[in-house]
Amino acid sequence: MFVALPPRTRASGAPGPAVGLYTGRVKTKDAILREVTTQSADETIAFGRTLAGLLAPPKLVLLRGDLGAGKTTLVKGIAAVFDAAAEEDVTSPTFTLVHEYRGPRASLFHIDLYRVDTPRELETLALDDLRAEGSVLLIEWGEKFPRLVRERDVEIVLERAGENRRRIRVYVSG
Ligand code: ADP
Ligand code: MG
Repeated sequence: MFVALPPRTRASGAPGPAVGLYTGRVKTKDAILREVTTQSADETIAFGRTLAGLLAPPKLVLLRGDLGAGKTTLVKGIAAVFDAAAEEDVTSPTFTLVHEYRGPRASLFHIDLYRVDTPRELETLALDDLRAEGSVLLIEWGEKFPRLVRERDVEIVLERAGENRRRIRVYVSG
């Protein structure tokens, strides 16, 4: 796994992130906190395991990337580091929409909004009720909803860079 160090943050006075190169709707004032390229699913899981500090609850996290980019794979590592679920027990909530994994330090809610199309449908999921001191919401396809883009604390963008290569960037609200 390649890890770009040191992390570039505006607070440190370092040049701002090259967000202009990214065509998605990342909020430009955000700093790229971490950037890695993984070479396998296991490396992406390992990277997820390094994110516990960044994801201390409460957090609303958007996971962005095409189908197969590795969003759910990354959640396996995050769930493991929070002692909330074993890797093999983390599966895509594509049909159930919300999976809950409870750990001693956080309750993780893994949410997939791929099949949720309208703000009204989103309301029925009552995500606000899940937001609590001890909770971390990990949301796939949340960028479909401007409200979630506004309210998210962390955004993780995954991009396919080859058969088994994935570029992963972590942004935090400034
Ligand atoms: P998403 O949730 O973004 O749709 P998944 O995590 O469900 O994606 O699927 C990613 C797929 O890509 C899995 O089959 C995984 O094994 C494969 N894969 C190959 N290389 C990587 C990598 N470097 N990181 C993550 N997944 C990878
Ligand atoms: Mg998924």
